[in-house]
Amino acid sequence: MSLNAKPFVQGKFTVISGPVQSEKTEKIESFLDAVVDSGYKQDSNILIFRHPMDDPNPEYIGRHKAIVTHKVEDIYNNVKPSTRTAIILGASHFPADLVELTNALVRSNRDVITSVLNLDSECYPHGTAPGLMALADEVILAKAICSHPLCTNEEANRSSSEQGKFLPLCTHHYHYHNAPPIPNQDVGTLELFLGPMFSGKSTAWRREQIKMQRKGVPYVVFKWKEDVRYGEKEGKEFEEGQVTLHSGGKISAIMVKDAFGMETYLHQHKEIREVFPDEIQFFPGVFGMFARLLGEGYHFHGTGLPRGYNRQGFNDVPKLMCLADKINMHYAICVKCGDPATENQRINQADKSLVKVGGAGDYEARCLKDWTLDGEPELKYKFEKFGW
Ligand SMILES: [Zn+2]
Ligand SMILES: [Zn+2]
Repeated sequence: MSLNAKPFVQGKFTVISGPVQSEKTEKIESFLDAVVDSGYKQDSNILIFRHPMDDPNPEYIGRHKAIVTHKVEDIYNNVKPSTRTAIILGASHFPADLVELTNALVRSNRDVITSVLNLDSECYPHGTAPGLMALADEVILAKAICSHPLCTNEEANRSSSEQGKFLPLCTHHYHYHNAPPIPNQDVGTLELFLGPMFSGKSTAWRREQIKMQRKGVPYVVFKWKEDVRYGEKEGKEFEEGQVTLHSGGKISAIMVKDAFGMETYLHQHKEIREVFPDEIQFFPGVFGMFARLLGEGYHFHGTGLPRGYNRQGFNDVPKLMCLADKINMHYAICVKCGDPATENQRINQADKSLVKVGGAGDYEARCLKDWTLDGEPELKYKFEKFGW
Protein backbone atom coordinates (compact mmCIF):
# COMPACT_ATOMS: atom_id res chain seq x y z
CA MET A 1 0.00 0.00 0.00
CA SER A 2 1.14 3.55 -0.65
CA LEU A 3 0.16 6.99 0.57
CA ASN A 4 -2.07 8.99 -1.73
CA ALA A 5 -3.11 12.60 -2.12
CA LYS A 6 -6.81 11.68 -2.08
CA PRO A 7 -8.87 8.52 -1.42
CA PHE A 8 -9.92 6.16 -4.17
CA VAL A 9 -13.04 7.74 -5.74
CA GLN A 10 -13.31 6.03 -9.11
CA GLY A 11 -14.75 2.58 -9.68
CA LYS A 12 -12.33 0.09 -8.16
CA PHE A 13 -11.75 -3.44 -9.33
CA THR A 14 -10.52 -6.01 -6.80
CA VAL A 15 -9.51 -9.56 -7.71
CA ILE A 16 -9.32 -12.24 -5.03
CA SER A 17 -7.19 -15.00 -6.50
CA GLY A 18 -6.00 -18.35 -5.23
CA PRO A 19 -5.96 -22.14 -5.58
CA VAL A 20 -8.67 -24.55 -4.45
CA GLN A 21 -9.42 -24.48 -0.69
CA SER A 22 -7.86 -21.05 -0.21
CA GLU A 23 -10.96 -19.51 1.44
CA LYS A 24 -11.61 -16.93 -1.27
CA THR A 25 -15.36 -17.19 -0.60
CA GLU A 26 -14.83 -16.70 3.16
CA LYS A 27 -13.10 -13.37 2.45
CA ILE A 28 -16.13 -12.23 0.46
CA GLU A 29 -18.51 -13.55 3.13
CA SER A 30 -16.89 -11.53 5.92
CA PHE A 31 -16.98 -8.43 3.69
CA LEU A 32 -20.72 -9.01 3.07
CA ASP A 33 -21.37 -9.59 6.78
CA ALA A 34 -19.71 -6.28 7.63
CA VAL A 35 -21.56 -4.42 4.88
CA VAL A 36 -25.00 -5.80 5.79
CA ASP A 37 -24.49 -5.42 9.56
CA SER A 38 -23.51 -1.80 9.09
CA GLY A 39 -26.79 -1.11 7.26
CA TYR A 40 -25.61 -0.89 3.63
CA LYS A 41 -28.58 -2.20 1.59
CA GLN A 42 -27.57 -5.35 -0.22
CA ASP A 43 -30.50 -5.63 -2.62
CA SER A 44 -30.22 -2.21 -4.15
CA ASN A 45 -26.53 -1.45 -3.73
CA ILE A 46 -24.70 -4.75 -3.87
CA LEU A 47 -25.37 -7.57 -6.31
CA ILE A 48 -23.83 -11.03 -5.83
CA PHE A 49 -23.37 -13.37 -8.80
CA ARG A 50 -21.89 -16.82 -8.72
CA HIS A 51 -20.91 -19.29 -11.42
CA PRO A 52 -22.47 -22.72 -10.71
CA MET A 53 -19.03 -24.37 -10.99
CA ASP A 54 -17.67 -22.29 -8.12
CA ASP A 55 -19.25 -24.43 -5.40
CA PRO A 56 -21.51 -27.52 -5.09
CA ASN A 57 -24.02 -25.31 -3.20
CA PRO A 58 -23.70 -21.99 -5.01
CA GLU A 59 -26.93 -20.27 -3.85
CA TYR A 60 -25.66 -18.92 -0.55
CA ILE A 61 -22.45 -17.25 0.62
CA GLY A 62 -23.03 -17.70 4.34
CA ARG A 63 -26.38 -15.94 4.86
CA HIS A 64 -26.18 -13.94 1.63
CA LYS A 65 -28.08 -15.12 -1.43
CA ALA A 66 -26.32 -15.11 -4.79
CA ILE A 67 -27.75 -15.00 -8.31
CA VAL A 68 -26.43 -18.28 -9.78
CA THR A 69 -25.66 -18.01 -13.48
CA HIS A 70 -23.10 -18.99 -16.08
CA LYS A 71 -24.16 -16.19 -18.45
CA VAL A 72 -22.49 -12.78 -18.69
CA GLU A 73 -25.78 -11.36 -20.07
CA ASP A 74 -27.54 -12.24 -16.80
CA ILE A 75 -25.09 -10.08 -14.87
CA TYR A 76 -25.52 -7.27 -17.39
CA ASN A 77 -29.33 -7.39 -17.18
CA ASN A 78 -29.40 -7.39 -13.37
CA VAL A 79 -27.31 -4.25 -12.84
CA LYS A 80 -29.55 -1.32 -11.88
CA PRO A 81 -28.74 2.42 -11.78
CA SER A 82 -28.52 2.09 -7.97
CA THR A 83 -26.02 -0.81 -8.10
CA ARG A 84 -22.87 0.38 -6.39
CA THR A 85 -20.91 -2.88 -6.15
CA ALA A 86 -21.01 -6.11 -8.16
CA ILE A 87 -19.50 -9.24 -6.63
CA ILE A 88 -18.79 -12.13 -8.99
CA LEU A 89 -17.69 -15.45 -7.48
CA GLY A 90 -16.03 -18.10 -9.63
CA ALA A 91 -15.35 -15.38 -12.21
CA SER A 92 -12.60 -17.34 -14.03
CA HIS A 93 -15.24 -19.89 -15.16
CA PHE A 94 -17.24 -17.32 -17.18
CA PRO A 95 -16.80 -16.70 -20.93
CA ALA A 96 -14.27 -14.06 -22.03
CA ASP A 97 -17.00 -11.39 -22.30
CA LEU A 98 -16.89 -11.11 -18.51
CA VAL A 99 -13.67 -9.10 -18.89
CA GLU A 100 -15.49 -6.58 -21.14
CA LEU A 101 -18.40 -6.42 -18.72
CA THR A 102 -16.09 -5.82 -15.76
CA ASN A 103 -14.33 -3.04 -17.64
CA ALA A 104 -17.68 -1.36 -18.42
CA LEU A 105 -18.81 -1.63 -14.78
CA VAL A 106 -15.60 -0.08 -13.45
CA ARG A 107 -15.71 2.65 -16.10
CA SER A 108 -19.24 3.50 -14.93
CA ASN A 109 -17.81 4.29 -11.43
CA ARG A 110 -18.88 0.98 -9.87
CA ASP A 111 -16.81 -1.27 -7.66
CA VAL A 112 -16.34 -4.85 -8.80
CA ILE A 113 -15.01 -7.68 -6.65
CA THR A 114 -14.32 -11.04 -8.28
CA SER A 115 -12.93 -14.32 -7.00
CA VAL A 116 -10.90 -16.43 -9.45
CA LEU A 117 -9.03 -19.71 -9.49
CA ASN A 118 -5.49 -18.53 -10.24
CA LEU A 119 -4.05 -21.56 -12.06
CA ASP A 120 -5.45 -24.78 -13.48
CA SER A 121 -3.89 -28.15 -12.61
CA GLU A 122 -1.40 -27.72 -15.49
CA CYS A 123 -0.12 -24.50 -13.85
CA TYR A 124 -1.63 -22.40 -16.63
CA PRO A 125 -3.75 -19.28 -15.79
CA HIS A 126 -7.39 -20.33 -15.37
CA GLY A 127 -10.04 -19.10 -17.84
CA THR A 128 -10.68 -15.35 -17.63
CA ALA A 129 -8.26 -14.91 -14.67
CA PRO A 130 -5.47 -13.18 -16.67
CA GLY A 131 -7.98 -10.97 -18.53
CA LEU A 132 -9.36 -9.81 -15.18
CA MET A 133 -5.88 -9.41 -13.64
CA ALA A 134 -5.00 -7.01 -16.46
CA LEU A 135 -7.76 -4.64 -15.27
CA ALA A 136 -7.27 -5.12 -11.51
CA ASP A 137 -6.66 -2.13 -9.24
CA GLU A 138 -6.12 -4.36 -6.25
CA VAL A 139 -5.25 -8.06 -5.98
CA ILE A 140 -5.75 -10.12 -2.84
CA LEU A 141 -3.89 -13.42 -3.02
CA ALA A 142 -5.56 -16.21 -1.06
CA LYS A 143 -3.38 -19.15 -0.01
CA ALA A 144 -4.11 -22.71 1.09
CA ILE A 145 -2.36 -25.30 3.24
CA CYS A 146 -0.34 -27.74 1.10
CA SER A 147 -2.16 -31.08 0.87
CA HIS A 148 1.08 -33.12 1.00
CA PRO A 149 0.65 -35.24 4.18
CA LEU A 150 3.91 -34.05 5.81
CA CYS A 151 3.99 -30.46 4.54
CA THR A 152 2.88 -27.53 6.71
CA ASN A 153 3.39 -24.82 4.08
CA GLU A 154 0.49 -22.38 4.40
CA GLU A 155 1.40 -20.46 1.26
CA ALA A 156 0.20 -23.07 -1.24
CA ASN A 157 -1.00 -21.43 -4.47
CA ARG A 158 -1.04 -24.34 -6.94
CA SER A 159 -3.89 -26.78 -7.55
CA SER A 160 -3.40 -30.40 -8.62
CA SER A 161 -5.95 -32.83 -9.87
CA GLU A 162 -5.84 -36.46 -8.87
CA GLN A 163 -8.59 -38.84 -9.92
CA GLY A 164 -10.94 -35.89 -10.45
CA LYS A 165 -10.21 -34.41 -7.02
CA PHE A 166 -8.61 -30.96 -6.82
CA LEU A 167 -6.12 -30.36 -4.03
CA PRO A 168 -3.88 -27.41 -3.11
CA LEU A 169 -0.09 -27.85 -3.22
CA CYS A 170 2.90 -25.66 -2.39
CA THR A 171 5.21 -24.85 -5.32
CA HIS A 172 7.73 -27.51 -4.17
CA HIS A 173 5.19 -30.32 -3.96
CA TYR A 174 3.51 -29.26 -7.19
CA HIS A 175 6.79 -30.06 -8.95
CA TYR A 176 7.99 -32.95 -6.73
CA HIS A 177 4.79 -34.58 -5.65
CA ASN A 178 6.13 -37.28 -3.34
CA ALA A 179 9.29 -35.52 -2.15
CA PRO A 180 9.75 -34.81 1.56
CA PRO A 181 9.00 -31.22 2.68
CA ILE A 182 11.77 -28.59 2.53
CA PRO A 183 12.15 -25.46 4.70
CA ASN A 184 9.58 -22.84 3.66
CA GLN A 185 12.27 -20.32 2.72
CA ASP A 186 13.65 -22.78 0.14
CA VAL A 187 10.34 -22.98 -1.74
CA GLY A 188 10.46 -20.79 -4.87
CA THR A 189 8.51 -17.51 -4.77
CA LEU A 190 7.44 -14.79 -7.19
CA GLU A 191 6.92 -11.28 -5.86
CA LEU A 192 5.60 -8.55 -8.16
CA PHE A 193 5.84 -4.76 -7.79
CA LEU A 194 3.10 -3.45 -10.06
CA GLY A 195 1.37 -0.22 -10.93
CA PRO A 196 1.45 2.53 -13.55
CA MET A 197 4.50 4.64 -14.27
CA PHE A 198 5.52 7.12 -11.54
CA SER A 199 3.88 4.97 -8.85
CA GLY A 200 7.05 4.36 -6.85
CA LYS A 201 7.14 0.63 -7.52
CA SER A 202 10.86 0.70 -8.40
CA THR A 203 11.67 2.31 -5.06
CA ALA A 204 9.90 -0.51 -3.19
CA TRP A 205 11.65 -3.07 -5.43
CA ARG A 206 15.03 -1.42 -4.80
CA ARG A 207 14.43 -1.67 -1.04
CA GLU A 208 14.28 -5.47 -1.35
CA GLN A 209 17.71 -5.43 -3.03
CA ILE A 210 19.13 -3.31 -0.21
CA LYS A 211 17.85 -5.92 2.25
CA MET A 212 19.74 -8.62 0.30
CA GLN A 213 22.91 -6.51 0.42
CA ARG A 214 22.56 -6.03 4.17
CA LYS A 215 22.08 -9.76 4.70
CA GLY A 216 24.97 -10.63 2.37
CA VAL A 217 22.69 -12.64 0.06
CA PRO A 218 23.87 -12.73 -3.60
CA TYR A 219 21.33 -11.40 -6.12
CA VAL A 220 21.15 -10.23 -9.71
CA VAL A 221 19.22 -7.44 -11.45
CA PHE A 222 18.16 -7.99 -15.06
CA LYS A 223 17.29 -5.27 -17.53
CA TRP A 224 15.71 -5.82 -20.93
CA LYS A 225 17.58 -4.76 -24.05
CA GLU A 226 16.28 -5.66 -27.45
CA ASP A 227 19.54 -6.10 -29.34
CA VAL A 228 21.84 -7.70 -26.77
CA ARG A 229 23.99 -10.70 -27.89
CA TYR A 230 24.79 -13.67 -25.71
CA GLY A 231 28.15 -15.47 -25.84
CA GLU A 232 28.07 -18.76 -27.71
CA LYS A 233 30.32 -20.44 -25.19
CA GLU A 234 29.44 -21.30 -21.61
CA GLY A 235 30.82 -18.75 -19.18
CA LYS A 236 31.19 -15.87 -21.62
CA GLU A 237 30.53 -12.48 -20.05
CA PHE A 238 27.08 -10.97 -20.21
CA GLU A 239 26.79 -7.30 -21.08
CA GLU A 240 26.42 -5.03 -18.06
CA GLY A 241 24.11 -2.05 -17.98
CA GLN A 242 22.18 0.14 -15.59
CA VAL A 243 18.62 0.58 -14.41
CA THR A 244 17.91 4.29 -13.92
CA LEU A 245 15.36 5.12 -11.24
CA HIS A 246 13.03 8.12 -11.58
CA SER A 247 14.76 9.48 -8.47
CA GLY A 248 17.99 9.64 -10.49
CA GLY A 249 19.66 6.69 -8.76
CA LYS A 250 21.35 3.97 -10.84
CA ILE A 251 21.52 0.23 -10.25
CA SER A 252 23.90 -2.07 -12.14
CA ALA A 253 22.11 -4.73 -14.11
CA ILE A 254 22.78 -7.58 -16.52
CA MET A 255 21.29 -6.94 -19.97
CA VAL A 256 19.21 -9.71 -21.52
CA LYS A 257 16.73 -9.72 -24.39
CA ASP A 258 14.43 -12.51 -23.21
CA ALA A 259 13.72 -15.06 -20.48
CA PHE A 260 16.20 -17.46 -22.09
CA GLY A 261 19.00 -14.97 -21.40
CA MET A 262 18.02 -14.79 -17.72
CA GLU A 263 17.91 -18.56 -17.42
CA THR A 264 21.29 -18.99 -19.14
CA TYR A 265 22.86 -16.46 -16.78
CA LEU A 266 21.33 -18.12 -13.70
CA HIS A 267 22.56 -21.55 -14.74
CA GLN A 268 26.08 -20.09 -15.08
CA HIS A 269 25.86 -18.46 -11.62
CA LYS A 270 24.43 -21.20 -9.41
CA GLU A 271 25.09 -19.26 -6.18
CA ILE A 272 22.43 -16.68 -7.11
CA ARG A 273 18.88 -17.55 -6.04
CA GLU A 274 17.43 -14.01 -5.67
CA VAL A 275 16.51 -12.55 -9.06
CA PHE A 276 15.32 -8.97 -9.76
CA PRO A 277 14.10 -8.41 -13.34
CA ASP A 278 13.02 -4.82 -14.05
CA GLU A 279 9.98 -4.21 -16.31
CA ILE A 280 9.04 -7.87 -16.75
CA GLN A 281 6.53 -7.04 -19.49
CA PHE A 282 9.46 -6.66 -21.90
CA PHE A 283 10.98 -10.16 -21.51
CA PRO A 284 9.53 -12.68 -24.01
CA GLY A 285 8.96 -16.18 -22.57
CA VAL A 286 9.01 -15.02 -18.96
CA PHE A 287 5.86 -16.81 -17.78
CA GLY A 288 7.04 -20.29 -18.79
CA MET A 289 10.54 -19.71 -17.46
CA PHE A 290 9.36 -18.43 -14.05
CA ALA A 291 6.84 -21.28 -13.72
CA ARG A 292 9.67 -23.79 -14.26
CA LEU A 293 12.40 -22.15 -12.18
CA LEU A 294 10.05 -21.55 -9.22
CA GLY A 295 10.08 -25.35 -8.95
CA GLU A 296 13.88 -25.14 -8.57
CA GLY A 297 13.52 -22.80 -5.59
CA TYR A 298 14.39 -19.44 -7.17
CA HIS A 299 12.98 -16.23 -5.70
CA PHE A 300 11.90 -13.73 -8.36
CA HIS A 301 11.14 -10.09 -7.55
CA GLY A 302 9.95 -8.20 -10.64
CA THR A 303 8.57 -4.77 -11.46
CA GLY A 304 6.01 -4.44 -14.22
CA LEU A 305 3.02 -2.79 -15.83
CA PRO A 306 -0.11 -4.99 -15.69
CA ARG A 307 -1.67 -3.02 -18.55
CA GLY A 308 -0.37 -0.76 -21.27
CA TYR A 309 -1.37 2.78 -22.25
CA ASN A 310 -4.32 1.16 -24.10
CA ARG A 311 -5.67 -0.48 -20.88
CA GLN A 312 -5.02 -3.93 -22.37
CA GLY A 313 -2.96 -6.59 -20.58
CA PHE A 314 0.77 -6.00 -21.11
CA ASN A 315 2.33 -9.22 -22.50
CA ASP A 316 2.94 -11.86 -19.79
CA VAL A 317 2.28 -9.65 -16.74
CA PRO A 318 -1.41 -10.61 -16.17
CA LYS A 319 -0.43 -14.31 -16.43
CA LEU A 320 2.40 -13.77 -13.96
CA MET A 321 -0.13 -12.21 -11.57
CA CYS A 322 -1.90 -15.60 -11.55
CA LEU A 323 1.41 -17.32 -10.70
CA ALA A 324 2.57 -14.78 -8.09
CA ASP A 325 3.01 -15.44 -4.36
CA LYS A 326 2.94 -11.76 -3.47
CA ILE A 327 1.67 -8.69 -5.35
CA ASN A 328 2.49 -5.15 -4.26
CA MET A 329 0.14 -2.82 -6.14
CA HIS A 330 1.20 0.81 -6.35
CA TYR A 331 -0.71 3.88 -7.49
CA ALA A 332 0.62 7.16 -8.79
CA ILE A 333 -1.11 10.52 -8.39
CA CYS A 334 -3.28 11.80 -11.24
CA VAL A 335 -1.72 14.91 -12.83
CA LYS A 336 -5.23 16.25 -13.58
CA CYS A 337 -7.06 15.85 -10.27
CA GLY A 338 -4.81 14.34 -7.58
CA ASP A 339 -6.86 11.14 -7.25
CA PRO A 340 -5.01 7.81 -7.17
CA ALA A 341 -3.68 7.19 -10.68
CA THR A 342 -4.06 3.65 -11.97
CA GLU A 343 -3.49 4.32 -15.69
CA ASN A 344 -0.68 5.24 -18.07
CA GLN A 345 -1.63 8.12 -20.33
CA ARG A 346 0.44 8.23 -23.52
CA ILE A 347 0.93 11.83 -24.58
CA ASN A 348 1.60 11.26 -28.28
CA GLN A 349 -1.15 8.87 -29.27
CA ALA A 350 -0.21 8.82 -32.93
CA ASP A 351 2.37 6.20 -31.92
CA LYS A 352 0.44 2.93 -31.63
CA SER A 353 3.30 0.58 -30.70
CA LEU A 354 2.70 -1.10 -27.34
CA VAL A 355 6.37 -1.22 -26.40
CA LYS A 356 7.65 2.32 -26.11
CA VAL A 357 10.20 2.71 -23.39
CA GLY A 358 9.86 6.18 -22.03
CA GLY A 359 9.51 8.36 -19.00
CA ALA A 360 8.44 11.89 -18.18
CA GLY A 361 7.32 13.65 -21.36
CA ASP A 362 6.07 10.49 -23.07
CA TYR A 363 3.60 9.40 -20.39
CA GLU A 364 1.51 10.84 -17.58
CA ALA A 365 -0.08 9.13 -14.61
CA ARG A 366 -3.85 9.53 -14.67
CA CYS A 367 -6.85 8.23 -12.78
CA LEU A 368 -9.36 6.18 -14.77
CA LYS A 369 -11.77 9.15 -15.01
CA ASP A 370 -9.12 11.33 -16.66
CA TRP A 371 -7.53 8.63 -18.81
CA THR A 372 -8.25 8.82 -22.56
CA LEU A 373 -7.40 6.68 -25.55
CA ASP A 374 -7.76 8.11 -29.05
CA GLY A 375 -9.92 5.92 -31.23
CA GLU A 376 -10.89 3.60 -28.42
CA PRO A 377 -13.56 1.22 -29.71
CA GLU A 378 -16.97 1.58 -28.05
CA LEU A 379 -17.44 -0.64 -25.02
CA LYS A 380 -19.56 -3.69 -25.74
CA TYR A 381 -21.58 -3.20 -22.55
CA LYS A 382 -22.92 0.17 -21.49
CA PHE A 383 -24.01 1.33 -18.05
CA GLU A 384 -25.37 4.60 -16.81
CA LYS A 385 -22.67 6.27 -14.69
CA PHE A 386 -23.11 5.67 -11.00
CA GLY A 387 -23.61 9.00 -9.23
CA TRP A 388 -21.66 9.78 -6.07
ZN1 LIG B 1 4.11 -28.74 0.32
ZN1 LIG C 1 -7.80 12.30 -12.26
